[in-house]
Amino acid sequence: MDLLRRIPKIDKLLNEATCQRLLTVHPRQVVLAAVRQVLEALRSAARLGTLQAGELESAAVSASIERCLADSEAFSLRRVVNGTGVVLHTNLGRSSLAPRLREQLLDIAFNYSTLEYDVSTGERGSRYSHVEQLICQLTGAEAALVVNNNAAAVLLVLTAMATGREVVVSRGELVEIGGSFRVPDVMRQGGAILREVGTTNRTHLHDYRNAITGQTAMLLKVHCSNFAVVGFTAEVPVAELAALGRECGVPVVADIGSGNLMEWQGVPGMNEPRVQDYLAAGIDLVTFSGDKLLGGPQAGIIAGRASLVNPLKKHQLLRALRVDKLTLAALEGTLRLYRDERQAWAEIPVLRLLRLTAAELKIKGQQVVRRVRRELPGTVDITLVPGVSQVGGGALPLAELPTWLLAIRSTEYSAREFEEGLRRQPVPVIGRIARGDFLLDLRTVADQDWLVVIDGLRAVTA
Ligand SMILES: *Cc1c(COP(=O)(O)O)cnc(C)c1O
Repeated sequence: MDLLRRIPKIDKLLNEATCQRLLTVHPRQVVLAAVRQVLEALRSAARLGTLQAGELESAAVSASIERCLADSEAFSLRRVVNGTGVVLHTNLGRSSLAPRLREQLLDIAFNYSTLEYDVSTGERGSRYSHVEQLICQLTGAEAALVVNNNAAAVLLVLTAMATGREVVVSRGELVEIGGSFRVPDVMRQGGAILREVGTTNRTHLHDYRNAITGQTAMLLKVHCSNFAVVGFTAEVPVAELAALGRECGVPVVADIGSGNLMEWQGVPGMNEPRVQDYLAAGIDLVTFSGDKLLGGPQAGIIAGRASLVNPLKKHQLLRALRVDKLTLAALEGTLRLYRDERQAWAEIPVLRLLRLTAAELKIKGQQVVRRVRRELPGTVDITLVPGVSQVGGGALPLAELPTWLLAIRSTEYSAREFEEGLRRQPVPVIGRIARGDFLLDLRTVADQDWLVVIDGLRAVTA
């Protein structure tokens, strides 16, 4: 109670040197908010009995106010260094874009653009036209459409093509992707009636055939992106499913998740289906994400037969799912890189990082270890240990990506202190703790990011 009474009054604090100085650079509202926040924290600590007398000293209160203000000034959405080794880390923004796109993105962001304007006719154009041809060239589709994300793509397809009618899906494909995308729920949202066929582990062509009636709107294949069924299993090859659909006059749609366009020879477990193979096998419509294996911005791409895609372009729901110019600029830029496969492998970060071999990462790691050791006190021990990176993004759960990790330990600081200290830097460095070491995966930390890591480690050990 005594401490509670000794907490300074707001007016007194505002008149002190620290606040007076802060008021010369920050708006009054901002300083006031920081002071209030600090006082509130002191009061609640006093009530809980956890407040130390030292925390009420003038210098300590001033420092808290400055820290609070600095925190409130920092952007909430900001870059981080990804040391987790998860290449498509959904919480860290999934794929990062090819550096070559920077100029183009700035140009579109800070100027007017041809978003819905056709310069050849001087008339209104379509925002969807900028990437449609590229998608068709790369995948063999007749037509294509881009929406907010793959969840939106599936929702639009179901709403437009299957409201009030039946959608036939294998029981083994009623998947959940990251909690908020669950096939039965999206189906309900789209007004479609789910017609489950087969069993969890085995579904046959005759299961689909027996389910087709006059009420059937489509056969839907959903890629099991984030899990694997092994053992006594059977699924219907896409070409057979496509042939069945054709024979019965029912469209066959595939949600293929990742949007992979490449052949991943030499990377074990990278057996993600390619968009162009599904379409070549006769699937009528595919949907996939822009920011998984494709390595572009968040987007959902619908590609396939013109007779099915074109009606979607006129659907009411599309307006609510539409993408903005920055997404389109990033997607066009990314897709252009795919026109030359070597350029795609070299420049699209997701493709480049997933192909890095353990031998390449080890060489890189040895250089990093030397550099980091030079910059840090001798009490911090930096070593290189082998490990495994993950594809992430709910893709390829079985892919094995052997890697090398920087292991950081010290007799003076715990792994927890390194983890938390680096996470709280102006550019947060995100790593993990295993067996008492703090670990950073060489695969996902870019060369120029090591400067940030070194600064962070210096700050933690200062
Ligand atoms: C990832 C994924 C989705 C969701 O895609 P978003 O682009 O994240 O909306 C849907 N279906 C499958 C099969 C997926 O792998």
